[in-house]
Amino acid sequence: SSATVEMEEKLKQRIAQHPCYSEEAHHHYARLHVAVAPACNIQCNYCNRKYDCANESRPGVVSELLTPEEAAHKALVIAGKIPQLTVLGIAGPGDPLANPEKTFRTFELIAEKAPDIKLCLSTNGLMLPEYIDRIKQLNIDHVTMTINMIDPEIGAKIYSWVHYNRKRYRGIEGAKILHEKQMEGLQALKEADILCKVNSVMIPGINDQHLTEVNQVIRSKGAFLHNIMPLISAPEHGTHFGLTGQRGPTPKEVKVVQDNCAGNMKMMRHCRQCRADAVGLLGEDRSQEFTKDKFMEMTSEYDL
Ligand code: SF4
Ligand code: SF4
Repeated sequence: SSATVEMEEKLKQRIAQHPCYSEEAHHHYARLHVAVAPACNIQCNYCNRKYDCANESRPGVVSELLTPEEAAHKALVIAGKIPQLTVLGIAGPGDPLANPEKTFRTFELIAEKAPDIKLCLSTNGLMLPEYIDRIKQLNIDHVTMTINMIDPEIGAKIYSWVHYNRKRYRGIEGAKILHEKQMEGLQALKEADILCKVNSVMIPGINDQHLTEVNQVIRSKGAFLHNIMPLISAPEHGTHFGLTGQRGPTPKEVKVVQDNCAGNMKMMRHCRQCRADAVGLLGEDRSQEFTKDKFMEMTSEYDL
């Protein structure tokens, strides 16, 4: 109908400059991740805490942790040097919403000095219902949530614990809380008209068969893009917390699941599993040009 066409047109405009949300945009627009959020409130069995959050980032990478002020300075320096920079995201190295003061302070500083940069956030979703109002106030237009299951029994194999309201919940109990908060989070994003991308880490033998169900549920709850990413499991990343010997899927296995879901909704197939401090166009990471000792020496034309 013409209403649907109009909606799709509006959506296209909204994502036109976001390299992750729009496949066309990723050739032309750049993003910056700033690593300001070290803590996490859950334990994924595939996460090795020495490295960046494996839900949004490339496992086995250690990003340089910044304070909100350092991160804002870095963003403004880079905005001056890379004119295609349209998006500033916080994706780790832990969970941004497990570090709310650092995360929101960073966004506030950048929004104030460079209001044209779009803000985006990745989270496991546990604290999303709690912070939805602040996310809205800050005009954060895009949120990525990692949803690996909609069945707490499967969740119990993926998460060893969930820390919520000052208590640690293990097994199914923990997975159930995470699941409920993720579903509430999807609803809250929809009501706030914030675009939601869902990442799912595909873990062979654990949730690979289950991801088509995940896809149906997230679609029915308003997520508009689904990014099924392979578990990257390599010996040099160290032993996974609870999935010792777990292999990652082959590219072919990932494609089969993506194709099974593609009838239902748009699938993201150009994700590069970037670092928590990635800089530049997707696929041309320039993080090493902007390490802390380098960018702290640079000045920006915006004054901070
Ligand atoms: Fe690690 Fe999972 Fe927390 Fe990300 S959400 S930092 S993968 S435990
Ligand atoms: Fe985009 Fe994927 Fe990189 Fe995140 S990890 S910035 S979604 S390409």
